[in-house]
Amino acid sequence: MSLFEYAPAPESRSIVDIKSSYGLFIDGKFVDPKDGSTFKTINPASEETLAEVSEAGNGDVDAAVAAARKAYTKVWGPMPGSERAKYLFRIARIIAERSRELAVLESLDNGKPIKESRDADIPLVSSFFFYYAGWADKLPYAGMGPDPKPLGVAGQVIPWNFPLLMLAWKIAPALACGNTVVLKPAETTPLSALLFAEICQQAELPPGVVNIVTGAGQTGSALVSHPDVDKIAFTGSTAVGRDIAKSVAGTKKKVTLELGGKAANIVFDDAAIDQAVEGIVNGIFFNQGHVCCAGSRLLVAESIQDEVLDKLKRRMSTLRLGDPLDKNTDIGAINSSQQLAKIKELAAVGQAEGARQWSVSCDIPDNGFWFAPTIFTDVSQSHRIAREEIFGPVLSVLSFRTPEEAIAKANNTPYGLSAGVWTEKGSRMLWAATALKAGVVWANTFNKFDPTSPFGGLKESGYGREGGRHGLEAYLNV
Ligand code: NAP
Ligand code: MG
Repeated sequence: MSLFEYAPAPESRSIVDIKSSYGLFIDGKFVDPKDGSTFKTINPASEETLAEVSEAGNGDVDAAVAAARKAYTKVWGPMPGSERAKYLFRIARIIAERSRELAVLESLDNGKPIKESRDADIPLVSSFFFYYAGWADKLPYAGMGPDPKPLGVAGQVIPWNFPLLMLAWKIAPALACGNTVVLKPAETTPLSALLFAEICQQAELPPGVVNIVTGAGQTGSALVSHPDVDKIAFTGSTAVGRDIAKSVAGTKKKVTLELGGKAANIVFDDAAIDQAVEGIVNGIFFNQGHVCCAGSRLLVAESIQDEVLDKLKRRMSTLRLGDPLDKNTDIGAINSSQQLAKIKELAAVGQAEGARQWSVSCDIPDNGFWFAPTIFTDVSQSHRIAREEIFGPVLSVLSFRTPEEAIAKANNTPYGLSAGVWTEKGSRMLWAATALKAGVVWANTFNKFDPTSPFGGLKESGYGREGGRHGLEAYLNV
């Protein structure tokens, strides 16, 4: 129902050279898995196979941890921070130079619109490396003691929603602090991490400082339970996070967990409505809603609810769903058939529980995994779609009468990762930011990320912070 049609504006995929198969990146080299296991990664927008990827077993994880240990003891741990910084700056520069290639690869393997991988993910990836490169020789001034020491070998496990960005959040601070790493990317999105491995080679990073072991949950589990890992950093679901916390209890391992969320995006009656509508759209439809801090619960003041919903539906009707490599695309593919099934299941539950569904009517491509942008109204706090993370382009709308009621409803969740408030009153913003039990509160904006700003959760959203000076603490012995 758009006002006019856009001609296709596809980004060329010829810039990226995808190999037919990839080994594991261990000790600076690509090696075959010991037992020869592989799996395929696909393009979720077309279901075409992109590449065959190695599945790391216990023996491969052993080899990767041993390489990381050796590099930590012999090279990276003893290296002065000013020298480590040079490598990190070099990596940051190469990422910026190869940003188009990385953006196209990320969109192919993940399904996210090129507009987002090009303008959000990859620039942030590069800026995280630049930012933490700057800290590498200034750790004594980080407020964590006069001579803070690294932890050793970090085992890092990341999800599929921001594959390279989550890698950057994990690897940049770990390396800046003098740790070495073994990272497991998500099963459905391993390719940008493997290109990052090539970038490490290009930057002549000493072998073993970064190791990439691809695989599924089993590989992650082998890494997390490995006895020679000093630090576990995990981003993913609360269920797996809980298992990891249990498995490392009673060991010397330090742990940070970045888990799920069910953020409230609160629109007060004095908000600038058009601006708030843009923020609601950005909050839940950015990256198909595959965002841990997505504004998935809209809390809107009852007096302006009709106006907000009218404008929201009108705006949603202009969103363009389709080919992720088209520069005009707003909504790309859902990352996997499993994730699509989960979204469909929860949407069906929403209907069964009595909420009212409204979806944008748009053409859905024949192949690939897609879900039209959707809102549910008549949602009550006890509904599963108001409590559980859907992790898709689905917004649950609730209303409130007083600011106190808004805060009480916003905090009525086991999660506590993020929240948003829309109001013209500075005092109300500050009051809400204090009252909301969430690690990050955005005011008159949403989904804003910056390497200098710490990010992380309260309650079942996990513990530890990534980004900023706070993010160093996760990788230092303080
Ligand atoms: P997930 O199932 O927990 O998977 C996350 C990672 O852990 C993947 O690499 C996964 O491998 C691996 N894994 C699975 N089982 C494991 C086990 N038993 N031991 C060790 N590793 C294991 O999460 P997801 O569904 O992929 O990702 C979505 C979740 O991540 C959402 O809940 C979202 O909110 C959260 N998230 C949080 C943040 C944050 O900063 N707080 C950021 C992004 C996403 P496979 O790929 O093979 O499953
Ligand atoms: Mg894929």
